[in-house]
This record gives sequence, C-alpha cells and structure tokens, in this order.
Amino acid sequence: MSAEATEKSEPLAPGLYVVATPIGNLQDITLRAIDILRRADVIYCEDTRIARRLTTAHGVATPLEAYHEHNGAKMRPRILARLQEGAAAALISDAGTPLISDPGYRLVSEAREAGLPVTTAPGPCAAIAALSICGAETDRFTFAGFLPPKTAARRRALSDLAGAPGSLIFYESGPRLEGTLRDMAEVFPNRRASIARELTKLHEEVRSGPLAELADAYRLEGPPKGEVTLVVHKPPERGGTSPEALDAALLAALADRSLRDAANEVAQALG
Ligand code: SAM
Repeated sequence: MSAEATEKSEPLAPGLYVVATPIGNLQDITLRAIDILRRADVIYCEDTRIARRLTTAHGVATPLEAYHEHNGAKMRPRILARLQEGAAAALISDAGTPLISDPGYRLVSEAREAGLPVTTAPGPCAAIAALSICGAETDRFTFAGFLPPKTAARRRALSDLAGAPGSLIFYESGPRLEGTLRDMAEVFPNRRASIARELTKLHEEVRSGPLAELADAYRLEGPPKGEVTLVVHKPPERGGTSPEALDAALLAALADRSLRDAANEVAQALG
C-alpha cells in the first residue's frame, strides 16, 4: 500500500483544523493542508462555490458547509457540538489564512474555551506575502486589516497608528485605494508605501513610492484592478522631518483632535 493510501485510511484526530489556502495561485497549498482537507469529516468555508474550485483542483471530496459572518451565530453551536462528538473539522476562508480579516475568530475562541483541540495548517497570507517582497522593514510591523471606508473615521484610525514603530500593513479595495493613500499622505507625511497587487497571480505587481505620489498616480490612472495589500514603510528617522511636513501632520491631526492630543501624536509619529 502506498504511503498516501495508508495515511488516507487512518482517521484524522478529532478537532478543529484551521487551514490556510491559496491567495491566487491554486498550487500554493501545503501537502499537509490537502491531506487534512481530504481526511476531515467536514470543511467549513465562507463560500461553498469558491471552496469547490479548490477542492476539485486537489481531489478533495469532503463535504463543504458554509460558515460566514451572516450564519456564524447559528452555526457555531452546531459546529462545537460536532467537535464534541469527536469530528475532525477543517475551517478555510475564500483565500489565505482564516481569521485574518476573515471569519473564524469566535469559533476558535469558543472551541478553545470548551477545551476542544484546535490545530493550524499554516500557509499563505496576503499581508505576510506583501511584506516579504515589498522592501519595507520586516523586523517590526503592525497588521491593521481594513480601514473604515469613511474619511473621518479612517483618519482617526490612521492617527491611532501614527506612533507605531515599523511597517504598517493594510488590506484595501482598488476603488478605495486613492482616497486611503490621500489620507495616509496627510497623517504620515514623509513615509513611503508599497502597493502589492494580485500577488501570486498573472498580473502580480509591487509599486513603491511616497504616499502622495502614489495617490496622484492612481488619480490619473483610475483604481487598480484586482486585489491590493498596502504596506506603509517605517517612519523616517528622528530629526529627518521638514517644518512643512510637521505643519501638514499637525493640521491633519487637528482635524479631529485637541491641540494637545494632536501635538502628542505628531511628536510620537515623527520623533
Ligand atoms: N485571510 C486572507 C489572508 O490571509 O490574506 C485575507 C482576507 S481579506 C477578506 C482579503 C484582502 O486580502 C483583499 O481585499 C486584499 O486586500 C488582500 N489580498 C488577498 N489576496 C491578495 C492578493 N493575491 N494580492 C494582494 N492582496 C490580496
């Protein structure tokens, strides 16, 4: 009997398996992830049609069931009950690592609270893929996920991040990219950014430059097609900020902050 056949015939240990899947290229999945998906009793996924493309490509016949933000509250008790009965269940999202700006946090947290085994089958994540090829500092970074869509809330969220050392990683949609870059250019003057687009796909591209220049470029060209991860490079070294940039940062912070808060934030952000 081949090693593969032996493994398949052995039951998977009970528990919840959080399995990373590709962010574009269907081959970016680990051998262990495929093995778990094949041997699990059930795969919980965001969208069964999207998951089926992956399972069909890799010869996985395990039943798929939807678990997403709209049915999570109803599904969680059922999933936990199945796990308690000894099922091996895999959790995947449409792309990348589940829970990272994707559903699953409550499920994992409740499974752990109930003392159920939770295991990872790690793999692709757009944030880490973007950071690893865009040339920004990698020793220290903050993952900030999706920003609020409206400008005032977005600027507030950005101001809260201004003092964070190292790189900042965001998920963003093409249509919102220019507005987000514009707000970032005000809150983080003097910082560079990289736009990592369509990673692992045919039109993969990384474009880097000062935030204001990137915003101007997308205004002229229109929104980029496909999926985008945005990395803001680390803050400039202490003492490197021009008086004009300081003024711009203070004015941006003063839009919704008291003078004292604005001054504190800008001092922290720009050293
Ligand atoms: N859980 C996923 C992960 O681990 O990367 C992220 C899910 S989040 C709902 C989807 C966002 O990830 C997209 O809007 C985009 O910002 C980013 N993303 C996903 N695939 C990407 C790709 N191939 N290239 C660039 N960014 C991508």
